[in-house]
Amino acid sequence: MKTALVCGAGGFIGGHLVKKLKREGYWVRGVDIKQHEFAPTQADEFLQLDLRAEENCQQALSLSGGTFDEVYQLAADMGGMGFIHSAECEIMHNSALINIHMTHNAAQMGVPRYFFSSSVCVYRDMLPGEPEMTEAEAIPANPDNEYGWEKLYAERMAMAYERNRGMTVRIARFQNCYGPEGTWTGGREKAPAAICRKVAEVEDGGTIEVWGDGSAIRSYTYVDDMVDGIYRLMHSDLRGAVNIGSPQYVSVNELVATVAEVSGKQINVRHIDGPVGVHARNFSNARIYSLGWQAQFDLKAGIERTYPWVATQVKAAQAQRGA
Ligand code: NAD
Repeated sequence: MKTALVCGAGGFIGGHLVKKLKREGYWVRGVDIKQHEFAPTQADEFLQLDLRAEENCQQALSLSGGTFDEVYQLAADMGGMGFIHSAECEIMHNSALINIHMTHNAAQMGVPRYFFSSSVCVYRDMLPGEPEMTEAEAIPANPDNEYGWEKLYAERMAMAYERNRGMTVRIARFQNCYGPEGTWTGGREKAPAAICRKVAEVEDGGTIEVWGDGSAIRSYTYVDDMVDGIYRLMHSDLRGAVNIGSPQYVSVNELVATVAEVSGKQINVRHIDGPVGVHARNFSNARIYSLGWQAQFDLKAGIERTYPWVATQVKAAQAQRGA
C-alpha cells in the first residue's frame, strides 16, 4: 500500500486531497496546526503539529519502517485578498518557515516525491484581454502581494532540492479554488465563499457589498478538479511549475450573478472600497492539459455544489446566535 503525508490536511484543499488519496487506496497521514473545522478527517492518522518548527516537520515525516512514498505540502498561512493584504508579515514569516523546514527535511529523510502548492499569485498584474501567460513568464517577477513572493521563493527552494538532493518535486500554481468545506467566514475566506455567504445572509431582493467595481477578471476552479489536477501532476514527468485552473474567465460581477442565480434570489450590489487584488488573470493551462486534465465543472456547476453548503453553514450559525 502506498503511503502519503498531507500537510495542511486540516484545511480546505488538503482535506479534499486526503479523501482523494483514500479513494486511490493510499495509507494517509494528515498534519495540520488545527483539526478540520467542517468535516472529520478521513486520514488514517492525523497529527496536530505546528510545522513552523523543524522538529515537528521531522515528526510529521517520520514513518516506522521507512519513508513516505509521497509528501503533499499544502500547509500555509493563507486567506483571501483581505487577509493577504493585512497579514504580510505573518505570511512571509510563517509560510516560509513551513516550506524551509518541510522541503529540507523531506529531502534529508529520503522522500522520493514531493508536491508543493504554489499559486497564480506569483504572476504580475495583468490587463483584461492580455494574451495568456505561460509558467516561464512569471520571471522577471513582480507579484502584487507578499504571498506571491513567498510562493516564488518556496518554488525555487523546492527546485533547488530537486536539482541537488535528488528529490523529485512537482509544483502546481493553483488558480482560485472553491467548493464545500472551505473557509466561508472570519476574514480568511476567498471571494466565491464570501459571495455565497453574503447572498445566503440576505433576503430575496436584498443588497450585498462587493469590494471594488466588480470588473476584475478571475478564473475559479472547483475543488474536485483541483484535486484531480494535483494527483495527475504528482504522478507525471512534468518538472517545474504547472498552472492548474479552469479556462472559464469571469468578472467578479459575473461571479455574483451566478451565485444569485443559483440561490434563486434577486440580489442588488453595492460596490465599496476594498482590497481587490490584480485587474485580471489569464494563464495557459497547456502543461496540465498535456496530462489529459480538463476542468469538469464550470462556474455554475461548482456554485451549485458550493452555495447550498455555505447556506447551511450560515443557517446553523444564525440558529446558534439566536439560541
Ligand atoms: P487553507 O487555509 O484551508 O489550508 C491551509 C492549512 O494550512 C490550514 O488548515 C492551516 O491550519 C494550515 N497551517 C497553517 N499554518 C500552519 C502551521 N504552522 N503548521 C501546520 N499547519 C498550518 O487553504 P487552502 O485553500 O486549502 O490552500 C492550500 C494550499 O493551496 C496553500 O498552500 C495555499 O497557499 C494554496 N493555494 C490555495 C488557493 C485557493 O484558492 N484556495 C489558491 C492558490 C494556492
